[in-house]
Amino acid sequence: MADFTARLAGNLADLRRRIERAAQRADRSAHEITLVAVTKYVGSPVAAALAEAGCLDLGESRPQEVWKKSENLSTLSVRWHLIGHLQRNKVHRTLPLVHLIHSIDSLRLLEEIDRESALIHRRMPVLLEVNISGDASKHGFSPGEMAQCVQAAGNLKNVQVRGLMAMASREGDLASARNDFRQLRQLRDQLHQQHELQVSLEELSMGMSGDFEVAIEEGATILRIGSVLFEGVIP
Ligand SMILES: *Cc1c(COP(=O)(O)O)cnc(C)c1O
Repeated sequence: MADFTARLAGNLADLRRRIERAAQRADRSAHEITLVAVTKYVGSPVAAALAEAGCLDLGESRPQEVWKKSENLSTLSVRWHLIGHLQRNKVHRTLPLVHLIHSIDSLRLLEEIDRESALIHRRMPVLLEVNISGDASKHGFSPGEMAQCVQAAGNLKNVQVRGLMAMASREGDLASARNDFRQLRQLRDQLHQQHELQVSLEELSMGMSGDFEVAIEEGATILRIGSVLFEGVIP
């Protein structure tokens, strides 16, 4: 057993305790919150050790990394999450490998996923990425586009829109992160109230290493966490 595994298991246990405590403070159950460990910083051996330590939801921001690691970890029952931009020409190869795509940022992409999902007889679960801060350099739909977007998504039979995803606009600023997360939740609630939605939007994928406790307090159901898991594990 490589010597990083004990440290990794310790970090995972610490993280789960912090998630538990944040959930308690918010009067929520930690069972309703899924931890996706983001393995983009590490190679397959460390990712495999995480899965062996019981963390089976793993996330990657690049499709090519999902291709590679899912092959290297094929004997483990990992659920792969794609959390970064997906180009349409990579949909075909990526779809069969992933459990959930968090980062739908255009209707053209969603339509391509709908077509490819039909071919493999799958109804693909996805989240719509919202550019909550309106920062032009970021991917995602603007909040103002969302009503039209969820209506259009409801007509696609081979995708299952499960919720929304967002990143906090300013790293390290917890008050601003809380505001962003709250806006995402309110946007979801508004979409539900104002439209006869064919989609349920129950999942809110928000919260990373620096702000996940705030995200839990604001209603996150999926956390995407990398850095804190690998402290002392990778040089
Ligand atoms: C890298 C990444 C994360 C994880 O960030 P950490 O701060 O390392 O926890 C979460 N979400 C997305 C979209 C990312 O690219």
